[in-house]
Amino acid sequence: MSLTFGDMTFIESLEDIGTDLKVGVSFFDDREYFFVVGKDADGQYNKVSLCYSCDVGLSVGDLIGAVESVSGVMSSKEIYSSIEDKYSEIKNWITGLKMNQNKVKMVNSIVLMSNDLFHSNVVDVPFNKNLLALPLFVEVMSGYIKDGKDYSFKKSDRILSALKKYQKSLAIFAEDVMLYEKNTDPAEALTRIDIGKIPSLSFSGYTTLINFNLGTEKRLTEAFIPDTFDDLISYLLNRYVLNYHFYCCANCRRYFAFSSNSMTKNCSRVIESAHYLKDIGRTCHEVGRLRAHTRGLYSDETQLLYQRNYKAAFARKKKGQISEENFTKWGEEARQMRDRCINGDISYDDLEQWFLNNYLKD
Ligand SMILES: [Zn+2]
Repeated sequence: MSLTFGDMTFIESLEDIGTDLKVGVSFFDDREYFFVVGKDADGQYNKVSLCYSCDVGLSVGDLIGAVESVSGVMSSKEIYSSIEDKYSEIKNWITGLKMNQNKVKMVNSIVLMSNDLFHSNVVDVPFNKNLLALPLFVEVMSGYIKDGKDYSFKKSDRILSALKKYQKSLAIFAEDVMLYEKNTDPAEALTRIDIGKIPSLSFSGYTTLINFNLGTEKRLTEAFIPDTFDDLISYLLNRYVLNYHFYCCANCRRYFAFSSNSMTKNCSRVIESAHYLKDIGRTCHEVGRLRAHTRGLYSDETQLLYQRNYKAAFARKKKGQISEENFTKWGEEARQMRDRCINGDISYDDLEQWFLNNYLKD
């Protein structure tokens, strides 16, 4: 069996979305894809409709929030409040309805109302966030499809309180199991931790194949359909332990995952609110180097890259392998390139490439 989805943003008929909705997940290319899956007329989970995605680990990092106070970045408490407020708004609206509404319209309204929780507020920079809160709103859609305005909200209320509980236990998991500076082997860290303090790692559900429709490219990959919301979390954690490490972003102080010991200490989240207007719409990764520089941190990777190359060229000049004139000219260019990198005009990779292309030899 395989499931397929493209870029559905609105539901046109109940046929599109199915019943007993859940949120499933799939990993590929170091991204997490969360999709809404519902039962078809035969009672099989074959209807995949809406899909959201983020770089690996951002979903968990978003729910935990900033681990220390950062201007423009929500703390754990603020994240929870924003989810709770949005949920209450939708819940109050549904319970206040005088009569049942068209179910397709209701599902689309819930999608629209929760939009700012899950989508960037930066014009023209599309990205998804807070995706662990998606199952809460999908449960409300599912409840409305089943019971209309008589939906009890019992199951969704349970997901909301679970989210609060997970903020704490996921923070412990992130720091004491996944954080690279503390543990280079998450699986080994798991054997030492008090497992009562972190979310359960055992899950139930099933895997199936899913067809991703990425513009011109179609790819078949594995997808997990959890039994419950808790199973979704447990499945994610298993994937992290097996394949990833976490860093806490040097810029926004939120966790993100990486699959090898990458150079970057900054996440790929898009900055939505910042002291410097020009930072808005850039990623933490893009502004990170600039920040490190303005803080006067000369451990900054850009500076280190520059120094390493400068010292090597200087040594070759001393040995007489390079003329004074060429060295001076090269040094001037190298400084300019470094400064352009620090200013965010070129990337770290560009600078690294420049040093390779301009290896100085007479
Ligand atoms: Zn960040």
